[in-house]
Amino acid sequence: MDQPIPEALQDNLRQRLKYYQDIGIELFFRDRTGASPAQASSENSVPHTVPQSEAAPGAFRKIARPPMSRPGSNVAPSVGVLPPPPKPSLFDAMDKISGDTLLKIRDDLGDCTRCKLHGGRHTIVFGDGNPKADLVFVGEGPGHDEDMQGLPFVGRAGKLLTQMIEAMGLQRKDVYICNVVKCRPPENRAPEKDEVGACLPFLQRQLDAIAPKVIVCLGSIAAQTLLQTNRGVSHYRGEWLEYRGRRLIATYHPAYLLRNPNAKSEVWKDLQKVMAVLGLEVKRGRPAAPGKPS
Ligand code: URA
Repeated sequence: MDQPIPEALQDNLRQRLKYYQDIGIELFFRDRTGASPAQASSENSVPHTVPQSEAAPGAFRKIARPPMSRPGSNVAPSVGVLPPPPKPSLFDAMDKISGDTLLKIRDDLGDCTRCKLHGGRHTIVFGDGNPKADLVFVGEGPGHDEDMQGLPFVGRAGKLLTQMIEAMGLQRKDVYICNVVKCRPPENRAPEKDEVGACLPFLQRQLDAIAPKVIVCLGSIAAQTLLQTNRGVSHYRGEWLEYRGRRLIATYHPAYLLRNPNAKSEVWKDLQKVMAVLGLEVKRGRPAAPGKPS
C-alpha cells in the first residue's frame, strides 16, 4: 500500500506546483531516460544558434549590435542570438596567476567599515553557494532576514529565488548567490553610489574567482552596477550581455515578482535561456492564462 505523504511534504509540493503554474508550466512528464541533470549539463550539449565553427574568434564581441544608447547610457552591447562561449579571457589568466579565492576575498573584506552601511548592519552577507558554480545570481543587498542570518536571499524574495533555481533543475548549493552590497541598507532602500562603489571591488573579485559560465543579475541595481549603465532592467532583460568576458543576463528581481506575479513568466523565459547555455533540460509549458490568480 502507498505510504501517506507527510503534511510538510504535501505543503512543499503544493507550493512548488503553484510556482510552476505561475510561470506557465502545466504539463509534467516523467523522465524515463534516467539521465541526471549533471549528465545533461555537459558543456558539449549546449545548443548554439551560432554554430561555433561559424563563429570567428572573439565573435561574441564582434556580433554584438550597438547598445540602444541614450545620452548617459553605456549599457554593454547585447547580442540577439545565443553567443558562443567566450574564450578564456585575460581575467581567467589573471585569476590563475593571482589565485584569488572566496576565502581570501572574505578575509580582505574583514569587519568592513568602508561605507556608512556598516553602522546599521547586524551581519555582513558575503555570499553563499558553490565557489566553483557555473551560475551566479547577483541581487541588490541584504534585507532584514538576510542581515539576521548572514545569508543572501533567505526571506520571502529568497524563497521565490529558491523556487526559480529548483525549477531550473538545480539546487541552491549548485549555484552561488551574492549581492551588490554586503550590508543591509536602512529600511531596505536602494544602496547609494558610494556604498556600491565601496563594495564593487569585492563583488568583482567574487565573480572573477568563481568564474561562472553565466551571471544572472536580479533587478536593476545589480544590472546597472555590473553593466555600468543607468538604464533600468526592463530595457535589456532577457538579452545576452557581457561582463568582463563572461555571459551576463539580467532579469526582474524576485521582490518585484512578489508584487507583480504576472512577470514570472517573463523571468522564466530568461531562465530558460540560461538553462540552454548550461545544458540543463528546458521543461515545456504553455503560458498560464492571463490574469490567473497567483
Ligand atoms: N534582496 C536582495 O537583493 N538580496 C538579498 O539577499 C535579499 C533580498
